[in-house]
Amino acid sequence: MHTVAIIGAGPAGLMAAEILSQANIRVTVYDAMSSAGRKFLMAGKGGMNISHAEPFDTFVTRYGTRQNNLALYLNAFTPTDLRAWLNELGIETFVGSSGRIFPKEMKAAPLLRAWLHRLRSHGVQFAMRHRWLGWKNNDAHQLIFDTPNGEQIISADAVILALGGGSWTRLGSTGEWVTILRENGVKVETLQPSNCGFNVAWCEYFQDRFAGQPLKNVCLHFGNFRQKGDVMLTEYGIEGGLIYAASALLRDEISTNGNVIIHFDLFPDKTVAELSAKLSKARGKLSTAQFWRKQLGLEGVKAGLVREVLLPDELTSPDLVAKILKALPLTLLAPRPIDEAISSAGGVSFDELTADLGFKKLKNIFCAGEMLDWEAPTGGYLLTACLATGRAAGLGALAALKN
Ligand SMILES: Cc1cc2nc3c(=O)[nH]c(=O)nc-3n(C[C@H](O)[C@H](O)[C@H](O)COP(=O)(O)OP(=O)(O)OC[C@H]3O[C@@H](n4cnc5c(N)ncnc54)[C@H](O)[C@@H]3O)c2cc1C
Repeated sequence: MHTVAIIGAGPAGLMAAEILSQANIRVTVYDAMSSAGRKFLMAGKGGMNISHAEPFDTFVTRYGTRQNNLALYLNAFTPTDLRAWLNELGIETFVGSSGRIFPKEMKAAPLLRAWLHRLRSHGVQFAMRHRWLGWKNNDAHQLIFDTPNGEQIISADAVILALGGGSWTRLGSTGEWVTILRENGVKVETLQPSNCGFNVAWCEYFQDRFAGQPLKNVCLHFGNFRQKGDVMLTEYGIEGGLIYAASALLRDEISTNGNVIIHFDLFPDKTVAELSAKLSKARGKLSTAQFWRKQLGLEGVKAGLVREVLLPDELTSPDLVAKILKALPLTLLAPRPIDEAISSAGGVSFDELTADLGFKKLKNIFCAGEMLDWEAPTGGYLLTACLATGRAAGLGALAALKN
């Protein structure tokens, strides 16, 4: 009976284990942590968004410059297939108003429990607290692990690496594999923060007053990027779904130019002329704050941002204030550190891999999940691609063992 070592008990590794165990291969899943799927469980906090129900042609475009690399795997395991697979596991799903797909219970824990139970019943073994350190004597099938019983060498007929990206290292995916693979001649693009926050140099007053508050129902403009949504103002700057959606573009712009200026439309449903007309009405004895509130409902964090951008004597100019309300500029100085990011960009270059996700230079070694060089916004795209590539790597290993 063939043996396969899967290193990494996240969604990509578990999906590979499922494919192989169904084909009667002896599978052991190794992980450095004491339990499986730590990041998967974290993704389920506050509502696990596991995929997206938009038309598939649009869905694929969310993977940006890597959509052509991933299309093969996503086509073979679409969001519809993912829902059917969950259903088989006894997990019902629903599509939210934004098209996002969630398990009915919204949580990851019941799903993970059912999944691990099924894998164990198919004979999958789990070896936790096994940190992979590399290969012995450059033999790709002699794996070195640091274990509670000291260093151990484990061999397998095929290996699947599903070691995750480089964010939230406390959940297990430390990115230490980058050095190991580079030392073995594999091209790995540097890991960078994706779906991350950005630093802004708020003035002290603004920081004290508004850090921790949401900025709701705004439209973010940057180049051709235009999207409505909410952001969160933080002590260091800004984050949240809308910022994450643009984070790859913003990160790359900062890396080229040192910083980036984005614009917020604070009143997406009104024109400059409409806003200016309201602000041109007689003010009477009202203070600026009272007048803004009365005419436009402009107060709190939105008003604070206008004061952050304009000089005090500019605040009484209806045209100027109206223009700023429609295009409030904000300079982002740097992405937040990778450890804080929801996910990471960069990873194993697709140039290094065959179509079934096997390493060209390392026989019978396969790779899946976030450690591959792709990125996507939040919205279920991350988990879908991890599961789809995990499945492809499992099928790749199966085919290799049959030859
Ligand atoms: C806060 C948060 C919220 C998220 N929310 C969502 C969401 O709603 N929707 C979505 O699609 N995605 C979400 N994600 C992203 C998603 O969880 C990840 O993209 C996904 O878990 C990556 O799967 P993976 O299997 O590739 O890697 P991981 O899940 O990171 O698993 C990799 C595993 O490899 C193990 N490992 C690493 N190095 C070694 C080693 N040397 N030896 C042994 N084991 C090792 C790790 O311990 C880990 O268990 C979220 C992420 C975070 C942090």
